[in-house]
Amino acid sequence: MNNLIADSESSIRLAIFLGMFLLLAVAEVLFPRRKPAYSKPKRWLSNLSISALNTLVVRISFPIAGVAAAMLAQDRQWGLLNQLAVAPWLNILIFLLLFDLAIYWQHRLFHVVPWLWRFHRMHHTDVDYDLTTGSRFHPFSILISAAIKIALVIVLGASAAAILIAEVVLNVTAMFNHSNLKLPEGVDRVLRIILVTPDMHRVHHSTDSIEHNSNFGFNFSGWDRLFGSYLDQPKMSHADMDIGINGFLDEKSTKLTYLLIQPFKNSSNP
Ligand SMILES: [Zn+2]
Ligand SMILES: [Zn+2]
Repeated sequence: MNNLIADSESSIRLAIFLGMFLLLAVAEVLFPRRKPAYSKPKRWLSNLSISALNTLVVRISFPIAGVAAAMLAQDRQWGLLNQLAVAPWLNILIFLLLFDLAIYWQHRLFHVVPWLWRFHRMHHTDVDYDLTTGSRFHPFSILISAAIKIALVIVLGASAAAILIAEVVLNVTAMFNHSNLKLPEGVDRVLRIILVTPDMHRVHHSTDSIEHNSNFGFNFSGWDRLFGSYLDQPKMSHADMDIGINGFLDEKSTKLTYLLIQPFKNSSNP
């Protein structure tokens, strides 16, 4: 099983990423939630370039990726789940839940620690909101996330299947919940009982500081309800609310080179 995962890991990831990207890109054009304010090709080029750069930076900086870390932990019998020898399906379920919980708290931390906020802020300074916003993160914040993820895999003893599924799910849901997709109200309401929907996460990208300090969840909507950070809707409508961070609302925030130095720039809205 582990050999099969190791051999086909890259192809599984790429096929699911491309399939989901195409599906959402078409859906956004057919059923848009908002009218884009800025040039799409320019933003997409920057957002996708930074995503490619992040993949490269993580590969160079980490001697071991998530799946390889899980195999090492299993081999050496490290981690809680390896010690307890839980069933494979339970290993996947527990890791999916705890990984998502860790991402939730990491995200909250990125909003309250001033220097971390400067790096995470780049994700929020996208002046439009679509599926490519989901891959727009500063390389430094991606390195922190990768370190936390590998530590979690080893401490918990996640299986190779669990980390691969968790990474693919995160990749797909990040595209989905950042998409400029108008879901019927009833569908949004039902999905939101369990999952973070585009409307729920869009609130988190509002220029309003109360709104962008709400809805931190990435996959399961329950963490925000449980920890009191849930906000159902923005003050303005989804079509009219302002997206981004005050002080970074000009066209510069669509340029790749500017995005990399943005953490070192000051804004009027911390
Ligand atoms: Zn955030
Ligand atoms: Zn986001």
